[in-house]
Amino acid sequence: MYIIGLTGGIGSGKSTVSARLAELGATVVDADLISREVVEPGEPALAELGETFDGVLTADGTLDRAELARQAFSSPEGTAKLNAITHPRIRERTVRQFREAAEAGARYLVYDMPLLIENKETDKVQTVLVVDAPDELRIRRLVDQRGLDEADARRRIAAQIDRETRLAAADTVLDNSGTREDLIAQVDAFWAGLPGQS
Ligand code: ADP
Repeated sequence: MYIIGLTGGIGSGKSTVSARLAELGATVVDADLISREVVEPGEPALAELGETFDGVLTADGTLDRAELARQAFSSPEGTAKLNAITHPRIRERTVRQFREAAEAGARYLVYDMPLLIENKETDKVQTVLVVDAPDELRIRRLVDQRGLDEADARRRIAAQIDRETRLAAADTVLDNSGTREDLIAQVDAFWAGLPGQS
């Protein structure tokens, strides 16, 4: 199984790329989705968060993310507690999905991971695919198309590694400063160039 590590800053176009790769036949493991799944009702991590942080469970038993973020990210100790509860579950689920894909005979697996470079997980993949667009364009797309508040979009971008660091870690860069069609064409060319294609 050939593992493609897909990353990029928020609003760069990662979801668009991973959807196209899925259409082309890749199996996608979505790290954001996994991190939401491990705190769904019934999951042990959710109960542990409720025992560790005050008032983070809503009346209907779901996670109050804003309240959790407020408490967990206000101190290094809070962040460490949050990570100790969620990270092992995220890792376990990720490894299981990789294994299931291999067992199902997947030839190409896309590991869609916003923090691939930050978390130094590039050694888990055969190739690093970075989706790139200028910060100002990403902000405009996040505001216009995903309805984010501009200040929030800027804060989120500022909290991530900078563009140069990400680009330096890339084996392939997809330039998403043009149209969606331009991006899809680059994905298709990348796919056609993968080992075992043609
Ligand atoms: P990410 O998953 O990296 O956060 P998305 O794929 O969700 O990024 O893209 C961010 C927003 O910009 C989405 O609303 C998406 O539809 C839009 N978008 C992505 N690529 C383009 C493009 N080339 N032109 C215009 N809008 C785009």
